[in-house]
Amino acid sequence: MKVTRIAYSVRLNPGKYAALAEQARRLGRVRSEVWQRYGSVAGVGSGLTDRRVRDRWLADGTHVHFAVLANAWKETVRDAMADIAANLAAAKVAVRRAINRRTNDPAERKRMFTALKADDWASDPFLARQMRKHWKRGFNRTHDQIVVRADKYHTAVDGRGRLWLAIPGLEPRKLIRIPLSTTVAPTGTLRLILRGGRVEVHHRSIANTAALRGDHAKAHRVKANNLGIVKRERQAARHRARVRTEIFTAVHEVVDKAATVIAEDLTKRFTGRKQLPKNINRRLAAWTKGVTAEALKNVSERRGSALVHVNAAYTSQACHRCGRFGRRGGDRFHCTSCGVVWQADVNAAINILQRAGDPDIALHTPHHKVKQILQDRTDRHRTRLPVQDSSPATTGRRANYPNRSTVSDK
Ligand SMILES: [Zn+2]
Repeated sequence: MKVTRIAYSVRLNPGKYAALAEQARRLGRVRSEVWQRYGSVAGVGSGLTDRRVRDRWLADGTHVHFAVLANAWKETVRDAMADIAANLAAAKVAVRRAINRRTNDPAERKRMFTALKADDWASDPFLARQMRKHWKRGFNRTHDQIVVRADKYHTAVDGRGRLWLAIPGLEPRKLIRIPLSTTVAPTGTLRLILRGGRVEVHHRSIANTAALRGDHAKAHRVKANNLGIVKRERQAARHRARVRTEIFTAVHEVVDKAATVIAEDLTKRFTGRKQLPKNINRRLAAWTKGVTAEALKNVSERRGSALVHVNAAYTSQACHRCGRFGRRGGDRFHCTSCGVVWQADVNAAINILQRAGDPDIALHTPHHKVKQILQDRTDRHRTRLPVQDSSPATTGRRANYPNRSTVSDK
């Protein structure tokens, strides 16, 4: 889930590089000291923590010799001890194998595994021998790294869009500013590695494929919200639960008032798909439709309402009063023929209601046929009503839709 990302310095001033290299060299001495003192059974192997080491060094003045800032050596102690712990863990893998070879007795194996895990092997001759064999005493080889804690650096973008990373130098309150090759600011603890005049900035981030794709707006959102995958999942689950509740409540309210519910068949359009669409908004819309379909089916069944599915083609594009195609803008529907503006959803809902009694348009009538039927009706309207103002609107429309017995005026 977390991946290491590397940003690189661009045309770094040689004086700055030299200062960073000197800091890394001094911190390398800190690492060597940690390995030498604690890189054994008596050190990290005995469960010693980096906090205890820091306290000891502060008490006996060890840290003064390194001539680096406090946070720099403390982070380096922590990092070096983590290296030693990793070294120890690798040795334990080999010892566990040796335990498995030595005995088949489950109880004996368990006892030794437990002792090994708790770093409590010194009293067991076999374990002590195995640990000495596999845990080769290591030493520090790292003299080109600086570890910077998340709260000790900051980033800023200059007027040309260049991202700069500012980290502590060897003197208090004097930051060294490094121009970076990326526009995505590094986050969390940084590991700066100095190689051949260039600085590599290693940091961990949640796998952010958006940035790799070059979708910087999305990458920025991911970073700005700083959401881990677990947290994001939890938020998404809460959101889904809330939307479900709202949809089911709304459907119950509809069934409160209606013995028959007429609706678009919301399941139809998505059954052909193998998966939900990639676009987040469409995905959400598809999911919402699915939940609405489920709610309509369940609630109407449970409460004894009839649920009738109708063909919803063009119901949001035609005027419910005259049947002509109009224009939709936002939540408004303009019918130029009637010269009226409807609330778009209300207009579509009335059209859907009318589809239930439509003798020409069945549930599975293809889209293009529906369009033809609707156009034929309005054409007939035009040709058969020479003087539109000569009769009251209601009777005029009824006369021109002989088969549409369910059309009603709203
Ligand atoms: Zn109209």
